Amino acid sequence: MEYDTITAISTPMGEGAIAIVRLSGSEAVSIADSIYKGKIKLQDAESHTIHYGKLIEPKTEEAVEEVMVSVMRGPRTFTREDVVEINCHGGIVSVNRVLQLVLNHGARLAEPGEFTKRAFLNGRIDLSQAEAVMDLIRAKTDRAMNVALNQMEGRLSKLVGKLRQTLLETIAHVEVNIDYPEYDAEEMTHALLNEKLGFVKGEVEKILITAQQGKILREGLSTAIIGRPNVGKSSLMNALVHENKAIVTEIAGTTRDVIEEYVNVRGVPLRLVDTAGIRETEDIVERIGVEKSRKVLKESDLILLVINSNEPLSAEDENLFEAVKGLDVIVIVNKTDLKPNIDMNRVKELAGSHPVITTSLLHEEGVDRLEEGIAQLFFQGGIEAQDITYVSNSRHIALLQQTIRHIDEALNGIEMSLPIDMVQIDITRAWEILGEIVGDTVSESLIDQLFSQFCLGK
Ligand code: GDP
Ligand code: ZN
Repeated sequence: MEYDTITAISTPMGEGAIAIVRLSGSEAVSIADSIYKGKIKLQDAESHTIHYGKLIEPKTEEAVEEVMVSVMRGPRTFTREDVVEINCHGGIVSVNRVLQLVLNHGARLAEPGEFTKRAFLNGRIDLSQAEAVMDLIRAKTDRAMNVALNQMEGRLSKLVGKLRQTLLETIAHVEVNIDYPEYDAEEMTHALLNEKLGFVKGEVEKILITAQQGKILREGLSTAIIGRPNVGKSSLMNALVHENKAIVTEIAGTTRDVIEEYVNVRGVPLRLVDTAGIRETEDIVERIGVEKSRKVLKESDLILLVINSNEPLSAEDENLFEAVKGLDVIVIVNKTDLKPNIDMNRVKELAGSHPVITTSLLHEEGVDRLEEGIAQLFFQGGIEAQDITYVSNSRHIALLQQTIRHIDEALNGIEMSLPIDMVQIDITRAWEILGEIVGDTVSESLIDQLFSQFCLGK
């Protein structure tokens, strides 16, 4: 299949010293040649080589830009198509000039993720890998990017493949028992079926547990800053935003519109509630009572409870402590530059196992300790372990849940001593659904697989 030639800026714009304009498609090399002047024609260049030269406006022969051009011929490229990368100076003006030139001479501006779509359409990556790249494009922090990368490298595909294989073997044994009762295969007893299905179910459940963490990594921890008026909530918000330069991630093939800014605290993406939200929670306990405010606060992944060390603990402070019991909380004792009037022993008592951190936000002091505390709290949950397969995609989550439903049906059938071929229907369905994650159920029928792998009926 041949597609038109697409192009996009594929490196961060702005500060960087070098920027890349990438082209992919059958015309990539000829388009580049039409605007390039160097020692040799790019058409004559060997694959995977890089060439110094100038970009020119063909009509006027006017030199536009000094560039290094990489020529990579398909199928040994990410898209499996011919790919040309034009490396130029990183300034916005010069990059845009190069892009414009390429667009004027036959390439079309790529949509976000279109390079990845090509890779999928051309069979370079499977569906779950393509989706992982899409997540990568949307990934907002380094850690979120790692999750996406792990998946892209095929961890999920591999694990799903393993589970499908187990199901397939199970089905095969059942088939043998149904179709070849005289065949000397191991009797797939209910107990053994139970065990195999239980194993697959357990593995799928494990993947689903990490899915929630994957979601957090992509969308950020929703973080509420609460406390009485004037304790320093806005100052805290400002300090966090100020010290943690919003992260900008740009991936090959994306354009500016998919980029979002984020507060990234040591690898933990935080979605801080806006100032309006903060104001609303200021006297939330007094307004709606402890129980109700707990409900509201429970929706946050992380709560930063700010108190003022310059004043004695008030009833309102104590109410707030009551409302956040058992949630993920960091207690911030602010204004330590002023005369201490707070009973720190009582604070520690109220805080229980929650971290207590002292700050003087007016002088941006203690923010680093707070950041350390946030990172610790978050990563002690095991999030940092890189060997877990994260699912960070709602389609995958839905499919995995469906898989569990069918396995449960099968287990149910076994318990009710249904005929084995009835049970098999659900096992087969689970196998098919898992296949949808890697996108290949459609093309290969179960029976083909059974024949090719187990040589039934030979
Ligand atoms: P909020 O009402 O809880 O959002 O509190 P603000 O962040 O608006 O702060 C209230 C006042 O306390 C402002 O005048 C801040 O400058 C001041 N403030 C905040 N943090 C500190 C601190 O650490 N020390 C001192 N002395 N003043 C602070
Ligand atoms: Zn405020």
